[in-house]
Amino acid sequence: MLRPEVVEKLECPSVGLATSWAIGRRSVPCESLAECQSLFKRQYWPFPKAKIGKSSSKAAKLREQGNAAYKQSPDDPAKALELYNQSIAMAEEGSADLGLGYANRSAVYFNRKLYRECLQNIELARRHNYPTEMRSKLADREQRVREQLKETGGSCAAAKPNAPTRHCSIKACLEVGEDGEGIRTNRSLEDGAKVLVEKPFVLVLEAELAYQRCDFCGATNEHNLRPCTGCTGVMYCSEECQEQSYQRYHQFECEIVDDLQLLFRGPKPTRMFHVVLRLFWHAVLLFLEDPEAFLRRVETPAELEQYRDPFALEPTDYVLHLLAIYKDREPNPEDSKDMTGRCVTQFMAILMYAIAVKENVSLWSRLQAVEGSEKLPHLLFRLVQRVAAMDHKMEGVTCFYPFTRRLRRSSTPNAKQSVDEQLQSVVVLTGPVAEGQELTIPDEEKSGQRRNE
Ligand SMILES: [Zn+2]
Ligand SMILES: [Zn+2]
Repeated sequence: MLRPEVVEKLECPSVGLATSWAIGRRSVPCESLAECQSLFKRQYWPFPKAKIGKSSSKAAKLREQGNAAYKQSPDDPAKALELYNQSIAMAEEGSADLGLGYANRSAVYFNRKLYRECLQNIELARRHNYPTEMRSKLADREQRVREQLKETGGSCAAAKPNAPTRHCSIKACLEVGEDGEGIRTNRSLEDGAKVLVEKPFVLVLEAELAYQRCDFCGATNEHNLRPCTGCTGVMYCSEECQEQSYQRYHQFECEIVDDLQLLFRGPKPTRMFHVVLRLFWHAVLLFLEDPEAFLRRVETPAELEQYRDPFALEPTDYVLHLLAIYKDREPNPEDSKDMTGRCVTQFMAILMYAIAVKENVSLWSRLQAVEGSEKLPHLLFRLVQRVAAMDHKMEGVTCFYPFTRRLRRSSTPNAKQSVDEQLQSVVVLTGPVAEGQELTIPDEEKSGQRRNE
């Protein structure tokens, strides 16, 4: 039985609508996942599914709103650029709206003296059906940019996108602790040494940032973003990010991008479940590659052990790492908080599986044919149990940092961790550290709901 006063005390205070739904139903079993699955009634879940299609009329309207916003505050064009981006994401492939959106963006960049972005957008406008009769306007703008560039010696201040290179740069002085936990140094280090710089391995943006930041790396890139051709929900700072995102998760999410917005709306900690789903897609990729070997790996503790050390892994295996380092735990039947947590976890896993996998037509048709796919809900459940490994305290994004997560916390820490503007997790020593000593960061601040206790 889920009671509101119990839910309030959960580790993750809100899983949005799912929790209220579970509370409303009054009794969701937590005997076993299979039982939860068999009792789950999809028709009780009030979920208006619909994919928002590209639309010329919506694109035109958003572009006009962008024009109005720009007229109102030409010195602070962020709102206008966001509306132009939304218009570009909404524009149908092959329509003039796409070209017009890029052209308007190029004008904003011109006035902001961001000449490289301006030229890029002129080029994009030309490639995307900018009306022939208006092309002289673009040619004029390009001419003026070239003149400006000549005057300034060809240099142009351009925002650089986050290059999707290695996602983490680590001083070679780090390794996993002796007991397989924590991270220690294999040489003595000085106070102030920067020992770890890590990009998020997976990140999820808050919905309101969809037209302001790259869905893959989180870069704002002066709003110079390109849309997904398949949906209206995501944009990218570069072709590389678009490609990486597609390979890692968007191939599974493109079709259901709007359903996922609804599924994971609610208070910010709810987005941790979306991060988990993106890690689950990594598992699905590994499963599709070699179902038998993958299932053997995740079901055999001795095999999973090999994935404990993140320093020895390829990024594609981080999902196995997550399974290896946090043990599946049985709840204490005497502890109602524990049992409620279990219940919500089961429910979330089954609900996510229903919406994101079973009703994801192209994926489901691929999976159904593969032997062993009936084991995937349980795998998702195991990953949902690890939701606490995700970081949701930063504004605007929720991330998973595999290495930072390995650092143990202490009341007498010797390092501190922060997140920089590129969303990289940075760990800096706050005192000298001797060879072989473990690196620790401060105890986590008590979360808001705990403070209320
Ligand atoms: Zn990017
Ligand atoms: Zn898409």
